[in-house]
Amino acid sequence: PSTTEKATVNPPSGSSNSSGLVYDRRANATFVILARNTDIDGAVRSIRDIEDRFNRKYRYPYVFLNEVEFDDNFKQRISVLTSAPVEFGVIPHDHWFQPDWIDEDRAKAGREQMEKDRIIYGGSVSYRNMCRFNSGFFFKHPLVQKYRWYWRIEPDVHFHCDINFDPFVFMEDNNKRYAFTITMYEYHATIPTLWSHVKAFTKLHPEHIAQDNALGFMSTDGGDSYNLCHFWSNFEIADMDFWRGPAYQAFFEYLDKQGGFYYERWGDAPVHSIGAALFLSKNQIQFFDEIGYEHNPYTHCPQNKDTWKNSRCSCDPKRSFDYDGYSCMSKWDKFMGK
Ligand code: GDP
Ligand code: MN
Repeated sequence: PSTTEKATVNPPSGSSNSSGLVYDRRANATFVILARNTDIDGAVRSIRDIEDRFNRKYRYPYVFLNEVEFDDNFKQRISVLTSAPVEFGVIPHDHWFQPDWIDEDRAKAGREQMEKDRIIYGGSVSYRNMCRFNSGFFFKHPLVQKYRWYWRIEPDVHFHCDINFDPFVFMEDNNKRYAFTITMYEYHATIPTLWSHVKAFTKLHPEHIAQDNALGFMSTDGGDSYNLCHFWSNFEIADMDFWRGPAYQAFFEYLDKQGGFYYERWGDAPVHSIGAALFLSKNQIQFFDEIGYEHNPYTHCPQNKDTWKNSRCSCDPKRSFDYDGYSCMSKWDKFMGK
């Protein structure tokens, strides 16, 4: 079956590939999926979608991560879905759980207040563990360390269009390091002091700030205040060597020491986004209109008519989140001069 599959595949657009093989050029890349055993049904749906729309032609590997062992049911139900390599890993204890040096009384008071204020996941410790892990640790996992590029997938997401090109190779060829499909405002109540720490960090370490950075997307007063715009990190395609590099490492360690992952409820989305905006040039950040993507309750549907048609999209372009009042897409367009 693999020979017929290869023969019917369209080469990625813009490629001079004449053999019809989509994978004569591959990136050193993997999918990364953080999940609980109870997420199995949603994980199956997500993998079915990405296999159907992209990966049956490309066969990039999958790494599933969990703070406890995946059970046999989880492993079996995932493994039957793909002929790509699949690995299941346990997260090292210190990469997941609340560190000892966090003042638990202060953390608890923060959680109780947020619960009272009805902030989503406000009372949850495990959600905080997850956000800190995604901010600073997933790219250090032994199973992930061998890869440079990753595509983050969550249980219960949807891919609405054929992806007829290799986004990893595209990023490598075009000097991109971080890609998104949806951008929106963060809840201020989850990150009340984050920006003040970001500012303190940039004063201490001006050497890490990129020329031609994307700070102007997030702040219109030269960095004094934050407009809460961030890239929605449940979808990410990015270069882990960027997260592993000196600028982001110093940034994450600085933020982690402030304790805000536990005293407040800092999300990996604003932390990654602010890191990308400060330490990358704005042209290294890629918006993929081509990738139709849904994570409840929002969908990005390609706005380019030819893409929508040629990629057999199942989403309604009129209901794309891009120009919803809560989206930051128009700010991104304006910032990028579009
Ligand atoms: P939301 O998208 O912000 O509503 O948060 P999710 O509940 O979707 O969690 C984000 C990601 O982390 C998903 O891939 C979840 O499966 C995963 N996740 C969340 N909490 C835990 C947890 O306690 N353990 C593990 N192993 N994964 C988790
Ligand atoms: Mn989610």
